[in-house]
Amino acid sequence: MSIQDIWFDTALCFIGGAWVDPAEGQTLELENPSTGDVICLIARGQQDDIDRAVTAAQEALQGPWARMTAPERGRILARIGQLVLENADRLARLEAMDVGKPLKQAKADALALARYMEFYGGAADKLHGHTIPYLDGYTVYTLREPHGVTGHIIPWNYPMQIIGRSVGAALAMGNAAVLKPAEEACLTALAFADLARQAGLPEGALNVVPGLGIEAGAALSGHSGVNHISFTGSVGVGKLIQRLASEHIVPVTLELGGKSPQLVFDDADIDAALPFLVNAGVQNAGQTCSASSRILVQRGVFDEVLDRMAARYGELQVGPAMADLDVGPLISARQKEVVEGFLAHGASLEKAAQGQIVDNAPADGHYVAPTLFAGVSPGHILAQEEIFGPVQVVIPFDDEAEALSIANGTQFGLVASVWSRDGARQMRLAKALRSGQVFLNNYGAGGGVELPFGGTGLSGHGREKGFEALYGFSTLKTVAALHG
Ligand code: NAD
Repeated sequence: MSIQDIWFDTALCFIGGAWVDPAEGQTLELENPSTGDVICLIARGQQDDIDRAVTAAQEALQGPWARMTAPERGRILARIGQLVLENADRLARLEAMDVGKPLKQAKADALALARYMEFYGGAADKLHGHTIPYLDGYTVYTLREPHGVTGHIIPWNYPMQIIGRSVGAALAMGNAAVLKPAEEACLTALAFADLARQAGLPEGALNVVPGLGIEAGAALSGHSGVNHISFTGSVGVGKLIQRLASEHIVPVTLELGGKSPQLVFDDADIDAALPFLVNAGVQNAGQTCSASSRILVQRGVFDEVLDRMAARYGELQVGPAMADLDVGPLISARQKEVVEGFLAHGASLEKAAQGQIVDNAPADGHYVAPTLFAGVSPGHILAQEEIFGPVQVVIPFDDEAEALSIANGTQFGLVASVWSRDGARQMRLAKALRSGQVFLNNYGAGGGVELPFGGTGLSGHGREKGFEALYGFSTLKTVAALHG
């Protein structure tokens, strides 16, 4: 199967409502991580293409897009959502091929994208300014306004979900977006643009420029015509982007990495916890910002939890995305090298269990067997750094104070969960955990689009998803009228 069979003839830039070649005519090869084969060539957008996209977005802010009422914008977003739903299988196949994500997980991402568009379509007319009682003779009110041109730089691991939560919210508030997808996976971003065009999104309201981070990404981050940047990706690049955007005092939302813990107490319902303990570590081959890579277990149930997690690991099957097994390949040979480097750091540790790569997995696919380590000290590199692969460590603790100190003992703060039947403990820890999200007796709450999401510390700042994102993608103007 080729992408021509699924969607495109060629993967170009989408600028001003039209498919255009990159200005310098250069291309990049896009790889299928399950096989190592080249899927197709994609545009290698550069400064000139970003300039054209920003200009198209600025023009949209002077054109029909800017004149639309909020309910009209909402209706278009809902129509995009409907088209995403109708095309969910195609989108899933495209994503499975491009990201290496098992087909079922890719389909779930497509459905989430549809849901984001429904949610932000419905929310487009719900956020208003307000009036402020003030000095006698004044009427004071605020106007909720779009930033203008929003730049969206996204990674390869969940393209559809991240487009939904960031581009969806930005369009709902009336911004015009320039999206720079990752060079490793950009096909669903382009397919999304195609559906948005079909749904009647005015030209220039959404522009997509594929390309390298150091070229198209850097050009967008430092562009004087961009009024807000939403970045999802690594800590190192997040720092660079914040620095580039500071040149023009452009506000930046950073959704970065994590080292998210699950805390399992002696009184936990282990049967309920078990699927979450493992799935949260190996889903999308561990290439998830909110992956739970640290499992902290109270000593009274440590052996039971470790044995049962190990048994589950023994059943995990790793193979091509289209085979739709438990775990797919990593995104690239480079990512595989990074993960194998971390595994080498664990050479002297107790390897509690590993999953199995299926025999017929293509030799040039980037497969790594999921690995569970026990007996890892909280300060060990495997318990401190984001691995971005299917690797989990299990760490014992004695009491709540120690669990909290280990949980809060990294530079990240994205997600944490607590497994315990003690309601008071749940409340204490929900407050004390340094984390953007805390889940009690679950992990991720099914990822609902309604739930605000973001980090603290090296996990970033700002919130996307849910209604909260609409504040981030808009600004407030205060109007004070003196009328005597
Ligand atoms: P990355 O930072 O290498 O790349 C992300 C995006 O930034 C890509 O589009 C890339 O082209 C672009 N980029 C790279 N260098 C750039 C530069 N100098 N200037 C501007 N743009 C540049 O990240 P990745 O390896 O693709 O993704 C993995 C990381 O993303 C992990 O750390 C993961 O935790 C994080 N992530 C976070 C969330 C979240 O919501 N917090 C979600 C998904 C992924």
